[in-house]
Amino acid sequence: MTEDSTTPLDLDTDLLRGFEFRCRPDCGLCCYAAPRVERDERERLLQILPELEFGGEGTDRFLPARPDGGACELLADQRCRVHGARPHPCREFPITVHVGERLQATVVLSCPGIDLAALDRPSSGSLSASLAEELGSVRERIGPGTARRIADARRRRRRIERRLTQDGRWEEERDVRRRLARSLPRPSDVDFPVEDPPSVEDGLDRLPLWYDRRASPIAFASGLGGWDLLELAPTGGVRRSWGVVPPPERLPRLRPGAARRLERYLAYWLARDALFGAVLPEMAAADDDAPVSAWVERELRTIGATVLARADVRARWSRGTVDALTEDDIYDGIRATDQDLLDRPGWGDRL
Ligand code: SF4
Ligand code: SF4
Repeated sequence: MTEDSTTPLDLDTDLLRGFEFRCRPDCGLCCYAAPRVERDERERLLQILPELEFGGEGTDRFLPARPDGGACELLADQRCRVHGARPHPCREFPITVHVGERLQATVVLSCPGIDLAALDRPSSGSLSASLAEELGSVRERIGPGTARRIADARRRRRRIERRLTQDGRWEEERDVRRRLARSLPRPSDVDFPVEDPPSVEDGLDRLPLWYDRRASPIAFASGLGGWDLLELAPTGGVRRSWGVVPPPERLPRLRPGAARRLERYLAYWLARDALFGAVLPEMAAADDDAPVSAWVERELRTIGATVLARADVRARWSRGTVDALTEDDIYDGIRATDQDLLDRPGWGDRL
């Protein structure tokens, strides 16, 4: 689907193509969140749990997560207590929609129920029936309110575009994509060490999480001498500390095939509107004369380096010494990174 052939309320689903999804009943990773709740969803939930209290005010309401990095209050023994009435972010996960110049759906690749092999077959294949329910929920919510949000997002983007044009730094997204897709940027030694994750003092709810086949997720936290690996408790706080692993100082070695996997992930990011959504406001706020393509190139290298650093820490944590990262390590790095990067604010909105 091209931008020219769409109306604003068409949903671009190209980035869902080829992905197969099967939720893992032992996971619960996406429940370490405070999902937004619409008015009709609140009413349904109150019919089941009359005592339920919501956070926020007005139309902006959410189900509170337990304090100190805990899971949503409705998660019990790895199961949702209101599965049939769960709110839309839960019904739609692992799909997320960027509201910007258009509505673009993408898959949250941190979800262990997603088969990452589709990254090797970009935009090929059909929409999988395994994502039909999630996609159906997304489509149901697209309406007049969405049109207003697109208009607001466009106004924010236009302001940034005007500012960057005045400075001689503006380049259209499609031109930047075309140029960088011909030769995807790769992380190198200059991109290391990567930025540390937040520390425990910043709040456990801010730490990047991943699923490790345990009853609750593992988090990276910046610690003394490296990154702390912390197993979080669903009720809040740290269930167990698994020690500290120093992140790589320079580019880790990669086994054959691993570099290709990383490249496919960066190609996926280049196609995401959320990439430009995050980069453009940073550019506009920076005292710099680099054009959009230079910023996007740098951003892709940073994303790649972050994946490699997280893959390397995970590999050394589970295997001790690591000579070179494997293809599976790259998938582990992607899963420990993707949600974190998608959560960054930008000029766009989230459906
Ligand atoms: S993160 Fe994915 S696999 Fe895990 S519970 Fe959520 S949807 Fe299921
Ligand atoms: S409502 Fe249910 S599915 Fe949604 S975050 Fe809470 S426990 Fe998880």
